[in-house]
Amino acid sequence: MLSIHNLKVSYGNIVAVHNISLQVRNGQIVCLIGPNGAGKTTTLRAISGLLPISGGSITLNEIDLLKKQPHQIAKAGIIPVPEGRGIFPQLTVKENLEMGAYLEDSPKRKRNNLERVFTLFPELVERLNHWGGNLSGGQQQMLAIGRALMANPKILLMDEPSMGLAPIVVERIFQAISKIRDGTTILLVEQNANLALQYADYAYVLEHGEVVLQGSAQSLLDTEDLVSAYFGGI
Ligand code: ATP
Repeated sequence: MLSIHNLKVSYGNIVAVHNISLQVRNGQIVCLIGPNGAGKTTTLRAISGLLPISGGSITLNEIDLLKKQPHQIAKAGIIPVPEGRGIFPQLTVKENLEMGAYLEDSPKRKRNNLERVFTLFPELVERLNHWGGNLSGGQQQMLAIGRALMANPKILLMDEPSMGLAPIVVERIFQAISKIRDGTTILLVEQNANLALQYADYAYVLEHGEVVLQGSAQSLLDTEDLVSAYFGGI
């Protein structure tokens, strides 16, 4: 289980995350929702070890992650799928996937992970030798997720996987996400609260760097007034 307790993160004088506590239980999709600037991406980046922390704790199964470098956090099984996908446009699909497996030393696991990616995203099999930069937005998102799966993650940190994609493609990506959950825990950041809550088990609503609400995704979906209060009725 990933546990965050009283997390505080600042950019210079700007306190982006005030006092966030949250838990991501194994086998669940947990989502962070909330308006622009609420601190969602900052929280994910802090978990990956990419930002200095000014207070609080982050642990994975009781192991203190604050003492670890980003590559050690990745090795421990926490793998990001960053906002904007971050694939390598001048590498082929195959090479992008190989980059994802750079910490993996078991050829057998590598093969199994590749098979998992191909089963989830047959679109990528047909385009193995295409440049990453030539893929459509939806295919690039599949590649970004596939590359992260090649690292054999225990927990995927997904930042806005629906961003800039047509509704039908978003649906496709979220169906894949719900399959990935069989075997991999997911912490998901989404602007589209309604969509995220349909797939998540548990959710935290962030505002101004704080958790203002939390509960099972179903209970938040049932509280329609509340969702419209925070998200303008989406
Ligand atoms: P979005 O959906 O817009 O990405 P978010 O909930 O992910 O929103 P963050 O990106 O974590 O929010 O930003 C939280 C706060 O930190 C905001 O006030 C933002 O302006 C500020 N912030 C984020 N990145 C930086 C940075 N590199 N330097 C200074 N301030 C930053």
